[in-house]
Amino acid sequence: MEVVETIEQIRKIISKAKSAGKKIGFVPTMGALHQGHLSLIEAAKKQSDFVVVSIFVNPTQFGPGEDIAKYPRPFDADTEACKNSGVDVVFAPTVEQMYPGKNITWVNVEKLSEPLCGKSRPGHFRGVATVCAKLFNIVRPDFAFFGQKDAQQVIVIQRMVADLNMPLEIVVCPTIREKDGLAMSSRNKYLNTAQRKDAVLLYAALQEAELFIAAGEHKSSLLKSQMEKILKISKQIKIEYISIVDARTLEAIDEIKGKVLIALAVKLGAARLIDNIVLDVE
Ligand code: AMP
Repeated sequence: MEVVETIEQIRKIISKAKSAGKKIGFVPTMGALHQGHLSLIEAAKKQSDFVVVSIFVNPTQFGPGEDIAKYPRPFDADTEACKNSGVDVVFAPTVEQMYPGKNITWVNVEKLSEPLCGKSRPGHFRGVATVCAKLFNIVRPDFAFFGQKDAQQVIVIQRMVADLNMPLEIVVCPTIREKDGLAMSSRNKYLNTAQRKDAVLLYAALQEAELFIAAGEHKSSLLKSQMEKILKISKQIKIEYISIVDARTLEAIDEIKGKVLIALAVKLGAARLIDNIVLDVE
């Protein structure tokens, strides 16, 4: 497995693989790899002939006061994990490679970037969409693999690809969870023991909503207050949002019907955690 830092190097490698008729599968990450990331790599291995993983902590998607400086960067463990998973090449550019000057060209996926996480992280999805567009232009993948865990990110990227006619397919992979239900995340490392225990309440709240819906409760307001009750069992959890929205438009809905995204974000100690479920309701 090769590990390359420059755009020139990765372009050469990709050109060679494409000339050999290989389908390129791409998994963009910020590193600190866990089973969630590895499940994307596994899906990429199954669906393509040549797997590229990028490791890049993208500064343009972090707002002022966010955790970019302390974001975990266990680079050797990450490349080792990629090697063991059968990745063909890791692209780990420096910030200077990706943003050699001050960036003045942005991809802004309007409307879809604004609700949910966009409210508390203005500019976040502009940074995500821009870096993904750049990475797609550099890697030229046939397939790019994203986790359902970041539901809004998936919707933003799918829309960008559609609106800008990018020649690749976005493949969405299920959220991988710890045994107790907590969605795996590089940010779980910030949790102390007590906070880690309380973190199970995120998925518990989502499951509660699912149970209520299965029992016939379709009012968003009631479901949200039920979820809030569960999250409030923890004194440490600070709710940022609990949202029930149309899974395609991200518009809030009052009555559960059709494809629905139930998403939440909380602060727990130093960590900002998100989770979601998507339900198809008759
Ligand atoms: P990140 O390194 O956090 O930017 O994530 C890179 C990719 O891994 C994104 O597509 C995430 O949605 C995905 N991912 C992160 N955590 C999980 C998880 N627990 N299950 C599935 N995919 C995940």
